[in-house]
Amino acid sequence: MAVQRTFSILKPDATERNLTGAINALIEKAGLRIVAQKRIRMTREQAETFYAVHKERPFFGELVDFMISGPVVVQVLEGENAVLKYRDVMGATDPSKAADGTIRKLHAKSIGENSVHGSDAPETAAIEIAQFFSGNEIVG
Ligand code: GDP
Repeated sequence: MAVQRTFSILKPDATERNLTGAINALIEKAGLRIVAQKRIRMTREQAETFYAVHKERPFFGELVDFMISGPVVVQVLEGENAVLKYRDVMGATDPSKAADGTIRKLHAKSIGENSVHGSDAPETAAIEIAQFFSGNEIVG
């Protein structure tokens, strides 16, 4: 399996509780490298574009409001099988269903305020990374 990149967001519920370092430690412990990272305040337009796939879902408005409610940390993670590996480290969307030791089991507050985002496929990862980083901001 080749080295792959995935896109990650530490969501506002995580930055609000000062969990950036704790979550980064779990990411690095899993063998993923943080090859780009910045703390930003997402605009409503950015959040709506990022989650456009969920536009018709009943929770879309709530999700966008949440993502712009505080700072987020956007990241590019690199490693073997990075997309699936990070999904494993994150745990299930609903923290009550997440496996022990995962970021969401340890830190998420609810199915909506669930601390982290990770791309679901390599193609999505490439699109998501390009929404927040230019090539020279990623240092592998
Ligand atoms: P993920 O890939 O595990 O993040 O999950 P999804 O792609 O299904 O959903 C994207 C994000 O929408 C989740 O991470 C949650 O923040 C949010 N979300 C999903 N389901 C719900 C829900 O039932 N209620 C609310 N408020 N938010 C949800």
